[in-house]
Amino acid sequence: MPVLDFKEIPEAHVADGRQDTFELFARDVLSFIGFTVVAAPDRGADGGKDLIVEERRTGVGGETVLRWLVSCKHKAFSGKSVSPADDSNIQDRVAANKCQGFLGFYSTLPSAGLGGILAGLNIETQVFDRERIEGELLHSAKGLEIAERYFPESLAVWKTENPSPAKIFADQSSLRCHVCDKELLEQDDKGIVTLWQEMKDGDYSRPDSYHHVFWTCRGHCDRVLKDRMRDERLIDGWEDISDVMMPTIYVKWTMSIMNELRSGVTYSDEAFEALKEFLLQVYPYVARDLSTNERERVKTLSGIPAFLGGLGY
Ligand SMILES: [Zn+2]
Repeated sequence: MPVLDFKEIPEAHVADGRQDTFELFARDVLSFIGFTVVAAPDRGADGGKDLIVEERRTGVGGETVLRWLVSCKHKAFSGKSVSPADDSNIQDRVAANKCQGFLGFYSTLPSAGLGGILAGLNIETQVFDRERIEGELLHSAKGLEIAERYFPESLAVWKTENPSPAKIFADQSSLRCHVCDKELLEQDDKGIVTLWQEMKDGDYSRPDSYHHVFWTCRGHCDRVLKDRMRDERLIDGWEDISDVMMPTIYVKWTMSIMNELRSGVTYSDEAFEALKEFLLQVYPYVARDLSTNERERVKTLSGIPAFLGGLGY
């Protein structure tokens, strides 16, 4: 599924002579990628030139500079591919502008015919089509900044579906596995948090008492921890950290902890400090909207009566 809707960039205003937003977009993307823009978009008598960029290449023979003639074609509104008629006389235009390469910057795709022509030219050619442009932009903070400027609506949707932690504290959040010390927040699987509770020896009138709160990788590290804890004769309850990271679950979890505290459940100093640390580190991941997948997951979780002790507020 494409993320960026190129129709957010207005069509060219040939009539009023204003610079096209799409050409300005091309300039920003290409300089972000590392090209030097030597001739910016200009609606003069430019003989079919949209933009000239330079690429510095360092090789064994030293540095070479390659000049690219950039042709911008914004056909997202018609959805049609860029045809040989849209981009004609490529080799002549490249030579006339003292360039060595041709770069097509298209909001759709090159047609098969144009692709064939480009492949047959004896100059370097490359095409940035909508997929490649999107790929370049969505994988870095700087790229996202450009995307946000030109595609505000697409980006708002994308950010909800791809949440990143809010910038709330001076330091980045960190939860290191209690066993192997790996940074859990950098893993796809964020691991689990375990709460270690004293066994009651049949006296259920006694309130629960938590001795430790640990976070670990799932699987191996969790088993290692269980082995280490065996002598303490505690029982462990656990949650997926990625579940607790969902805003709805986080607030329910926090409320159930507060209710438990009120009802007399106790925590050792260590467990209470760890619990606070956990809630603080997870919070930046929580301060946001729910993604579509999470909305489904919350529905599923809420349907499980025992989940987080009933989740009563
Ligand atoms: Zn681990």
